Formats: sequence, C-alpha cells, structure tokens
Amino acid sequence: MEAKSKSPKMIPIFELTLDGLTAILKQDHKKGGFHASALYREVFKQGKQNWFEADEFVKSPALTKVLLPLLAIKPDKIVKTINEEFLTKFITRLSDGQKIESVIIPMTRYKTLCISCQVGCKMGCRFCETGRMGFKRNLSVAEIISQVYNARFFLKENIQNVVFMGMGEPFDNFDNVIKAIEVMNVQQGLDIASRHITISTAGLSSGIDKLAALKLKNIRLAVSINAANDEVRSKLMPVNRRVPLKKLKTSLTNYPLKKRGAFLMEYVLIKGVNDSFQDAQELVEFIGPLPVRLNLIGYNPVKDFDHPPPSEEALHRFGQWLTDKGIFVIKRWSKGRSVSAGCGQLGGFLCE
Ligand code: SF4
Repeated sequence: MEAKSKSPKMIPIFELTLDGLTAILKQDHKKGGFHASALYREVFKQGKQNWFEADEFVKSPALTKVLLPLLAIKPDKIVKTINEEFLTKFITRLSDGQKIESVIIPMTRYKTLCISCQVGCKMGCRFCETGRMGFKRNLSVAEIISQVYNARFFLKENIQNVVFMGMGEPFDNFDNVIKAIEVMNVQQGLDIASRHITISTAGLSSGIDKLAALKLKNIRLAVSINAANDEVRSKLMPVNRRVPLKKLKTSLTNYPLKKRGAFLMEYVLIKGVNDSFQDAQELVEFIGPLPVRLNLIGYNPVKDFDHPPPSEEALHRFGQWLTDKGIFVIKRWSKGRSVSAGCGQLGGFLCE
C-alpha cells in the first residue's frame, strides 16, 4: 500500500518559545535557529504580521512558500477600548465569541498589563464580577499571549510588567499560564522577565506548591487574602472552605521565595465585613513572620453584594493598624476604584 505523505503541521507561534519554534523548523522543514530567530524577531519584537518580507525569508523563497499557509499571525481581536480615569481597559473577542478583559495601568516609567487567564472563574468570590459569571473555560496559551501582543503592538503601549489579575484563577489553568510565561520570557521576543510577572491567586495551595516545585523564584506571587478568619473568609471566598487559612499558610511558609523577596497580599476592605480592629489583628497574626507587602483596596460594589465602598478614612485607619504592627502597606488605594474587574479588583498596582 502506498504510504500517505504527511502534510506539514500548522505552526502555532503564539504558543511557542524560540526553542520550540526552532525545533519545529528543524524537524519539519530542515531549517533551524537562523530562520526561527528571524521569525521570532519579526513577530514578537517588531510586531509585524508580514514576517515574510524580512530579508531572511525573501532570500529563502522556497521555505517562505511552504511556511506561508502554516503560519498566520492572527491575534484575537480587540472589540472595545475603554478609558477609565488613568486606566485603559480593552475587551477581546475570542474565536468562539467569548469575551475577556485586560487592563493597562500606567506606572512611572512604563505600563503594567493586567491579563485574564480564563473566561469567567470557578472561585466565586462574592466581591468580584468575574466570580459572579461562573466558569466558562480556560484560555489557551495563544489567547493569553494575544493580550500582551495586542497591548504592545495594536494599542502601542510600553508594556514591561504583566500581572495575572484579570478574569480567572491562574492556578486553575496552571499549565497554560506557565507556558505563556515561558513565551513572554524569551529575550529575542516579548522579553518580559519573570521578575516583572505576578501571578495572583485566590489561595489555591496546590497551585502554590506546584509553582514552588518549579523553582521559578523570580515570578512574583500575590494572594488575594481579604480576611484572616476562616468564617469571614469562607463567606467572601468559597475557596476557603476547601483551602482554609492554615493550609494556605503552610504553602506560603514552604514557598521558596528569593532572597529579600516578599509575597504580595491583596485585601479588599469591605465596610462592616472585614474592616474592624479585630480583622486587622487577625491579619497581622496570619502574616506573622512571612515577608508581605499588603495591598489595601477599597471595595468597589458589585451586584448582589450590597456594601458601600469604605471611606478614605476607614482605609487609612485600617492601613494604620497594620502599619503600627510592622506590616508594609501599599497606600495607593484610590487607583482603579472605578474599574470592576477580576482578581482583587485589579487593586493597587503593585509592580514598580
Ligand atoms: S477575585 Fe479572582 S479568584 Fe475570585 S472570583 Fe474573581 S477572578 Fe476568580
């Protein structure tokens, strides 16, 4: 019987590191690092979709002819851009029609991009719009990378920091989040180093343990804490019933932080729920000797969780109780008050 000739595979460049791309070009096309580097540079450094116009490909017409149908640079489409105060939110429509949000946050010298990793979220935090949507699906690596690509090359923003604080729980889409970080890290491409990337979790200790095992010490870890009392926290964040504070603390204690590193913790202050002196004391006790920078964020009301935002005075008072006990509190609580988004309500903006 005649053997069927294998048709060459599509090249999902938004899912590939430079090494991964080189391996595919070697294996399927008998070409290697030279063309892979050129392709990576055109797509991820320069944001060009017509990579085939680069010298390296003009001079290799046979290869270019083969690659063209296999390599379409088609990031997901931005369908809306909204400016709220100093933040820019953009909505992306995915290939199946689902929509996700990303937010660009200006810092002193550059911009931070807050990205989504899921459509919806399983965690169901009471104070979060995304939690109320329920879970639809995980994002692919390409859909995560598309957000960075679009912010840099379509919106032309100087993105140097990425925080996984948009829609979804990153540890619930662990493999794709880690793979996307590997793609972001490639110096010849997007060149966003791990020390400029923050993963924010609702407190999935299994994810913290898995990240610890990878020994990627430079990635910054943020925990949306919101209460240091199991009863209060379970009401706010149902995940706490599965992973109570003691278990979370064990994972944090065992986490191999880099030298002089610290966890980021987000605390959404909600009037009459977690804003008392006792709440502050419990938080101080929970943090104990852990190195923590605490991001205190005023609650931004969402439907069916009817609490007014705390006053500036209440935020200052709560922050002061913590500061008095030696906790490092990030006092930038007005930033982003008008944006209602995912994890920790995009609070604080952390990464300068
Ligand atoms: S705060 Fe984060 S973990 Fe909680 S429901 Fe919202 S997106 Fe999910």
